[in-house]
Amino acid sequence: MKKVLILEDEVNIRSFVVINLKRAGYEVLEAGTGQEALDTLQRNPDIGVAILDIMLPDIDGFEVCRRIRATNNQMGVIMLTARTQEMDKVTGLMTGADDYVTKPFSPAELTARIDALFRRLGGDSAGSTEILTYGPFVMNTRNHTLDKGDKRIRLTQVEYSILKLFMQNPGRALSREDVLSAVWGREYEGELKIVDVNIRRLRIKIEDDSTNPTYITTVWGFGYKWGN
Ligand code: CA
Repeated sequence: MKKVLILEDEVNIRSFVVINLKRAGYEVLEAGTGQEALDTLQRNPDIGVAILDIMLPDIDGFEVCRRIRATNNQMGVIMLTARTQEMDKVTGLMTGADDYVTKPFSPAELTARIDALFRRLGGDSAGSTEILTYGPFVMNTRNHTLDKGDKRIRLTQVEYSILKLFMQNPGRALSREDVLSAVWGREYEGELKIVDVNIRRLRIKIEDDSTNPTYITTVWGFGYKWGN
């Protein structure tokens, strides 16, 4: 069964999430503090998606996300945000979350986001290995690895999926909607902003100078482009 962790200190919200995710067919683990969440994740390396509240009694959800990403790029991470202000922090800190859901949210909305991340976890169909190259970059689609020169670049599953889409479409301007539907799925109902957040983070990882990107360039008023 697909395993999900919910980190939320407000018992009512946590119970609401647990009941609905169990109903949707997930195995759900709960945590009420950041430390408890990190301990649970360590004991359960097969957790596929973690849902992290931001305001917590001990360490905040951003810090939990940062610590997860220090060792694990494969897990899907969804931040639960209470206000727009918190989303600005998500954007600013870019701690490595794949998605965010703003409270109050419907169970269907949360489930759709989790499903989208599990589809990403499933990855490419086995058997076909494709080596994509561009400039100093070499992507191996079987191992889900990216090298830049002799350096291995660690990507989250969402970052990997975005970059794969770009590398399969060199020189082609892709709209933010194109990226959203290719990476998150056509039925995904999230906001386009999540594309920008992930691309900013991707640029920090792959560009020589992320403030002056030359690989992932912005096509103003439209979207992004890989290469020239
Ligand atoms: Ca809270």
